Amino acid sequence: MSSRKIKKRLFGTNGVRGIVGRDMTPELALSIGLALGSLRKGRIAVGRDTRTSGPALASALKAGLLATGCDVTDCGILPTPALQYLVMKHFDAGAVITASHNPPEYNGVKVIEPDGTEMGDEETILLEDRIFSRNFTTTPWNDTGSEHVAPALVHEYIDAVVRHVPGGIGEGCTVVVDPGSGAACFTTPAILTRLGCRVYTINSQMDGRFPGRLPEPSADGLAPLGDLVRATGADLGIAHDGDADRAVFLDENGRFIEENCEFALIADRVCRERKGTVVAPVSTSLVVETMVRRNGGKIHYTPVGSIYVARTMRMLEADGIPVVLGGEGNGGIIYPSHQFCRDGGLTAAMVVAILAGESRPLSVLADELPRFHLIKDKFSADTPELVMKTIEASFAGEILDRTDGIRINRPDAWALVRPSGTEPLVRVIVESAERKTAEQLFTEIMQCIQKG
Ligand code: MG
Repeated sequence: MSSRKIKKRLFGTNGVRGIVGRDMTPELALSIGLALGSLRKGRIAVGRDTRTSGPALASALKAGLLATGCDVTDCGILPTPALQYLVMKHFDAGAVITASHNPPEYNGVKVIEPDGTEMGDEETILLEDRIFSRNFTTTPWNDTGSEHVAPALVHEYIDAVVRHVPGGIGEGCTVVVDPGSGAACFTTPAILTRLGCRVYTINSQMDGRFPGRLPEPSADGLAPLGDLVRATGADLGIAHDGDADRAVFLDENGRFIEENCEFALIADRVCRERKGTVVAPVSTSLVVETMVRRNGGKIHYTPVGSIYVARTMRMLEADGIPVVLGGEGNGGIIYPSHQFCRDGGLTAAMVVAILAGESRPLSVLADELPRFHLIKDKFSADTPELVMKTIEASFAGEILDRTDGIRINRPDAWALVRPSGTEPLVRVIVESAERKTAEQLFTEIMQCIQKG
């Protein structure tokens, strides 16, 4: 098990994704099913988000699994973390048909390991090799798998999330939930109602055309949620991406809480209660590290991508290091005492629990966080490798971290320059407590990119 990045041919950081009918076809889903069934025998759980292409792709994937002798349990539409939880409890592997936050024309497959984590790079490469070489071990007629349909299994996930926070913690709290017509339409309102919250919803009818807003929970798309928060006098608004492994928040005024600030608020609470390490990608804002250190915690940085965060958390735990939280700064938060994957439903419950322990509203809690100036941008580059070499040479005398791309660490600022794995692009993040310092470092990096 490694937390380093390895380049794959078909799968990206979070599974296979593509436009339906062009890159993501039933033929490909069938091949993934055949390959996964050849690699992992036993009982396999399959789930999906609400996309219109979901039933066709799930049927093809299941056909591959059944033909290789696996027993398939179809859990229907449910959040990715719900399927991950069920796999961890009951199954030998799993697969979710989802394109997460991508627009409705996309779909994809996330493969889940027996421990509930997304499949790591080494195993994914074995899976890809089988797909490309068509090395499948189909079984004879008397050994094919059987299919079970179990849509009610999702209640086990809801129960587990509810058990994870103190009972009745949401009493007196009014929330508006916007699942964006995605996989959490049923689960998050059910979780928060069970916690005692008064729950209003918007975009809460499952609809793979995503008529109310796109599956990415961006500040722009959440304007109607903000209106409803204000109209109902709610304490907060909660929104998910399409497969609800992420959750983002609006305060009582309908204002979007930047995702690094969300991570910092949760890290602050968790580190106050338990000393240990918080794991985050090198792209995470210093607001998180500041709150972790303020509470006597430690931070451990990983490459960018939730599987690297999750796998590093497991590796640290195996080494006897207490890990209390993981996160990405995009609304994806991992609670190791629950499971080693991002969980939007539990994140919703956690923020309600944080508010229950505070006399101040969410807007004040967010405003009290230390402020940093963050610049994020991306640039097209025909040869990203050349740009990286120029950056390395230009900043050679400085403290450079190569966890993922190049991170330049200065006492008053940091920057991350990272080539995209799939496109001719270089991504840049710069941060400092001072706007001017951040802008200066950003300009230095820009000059290198233009040279490269
Ligand atoms: Mg997602």
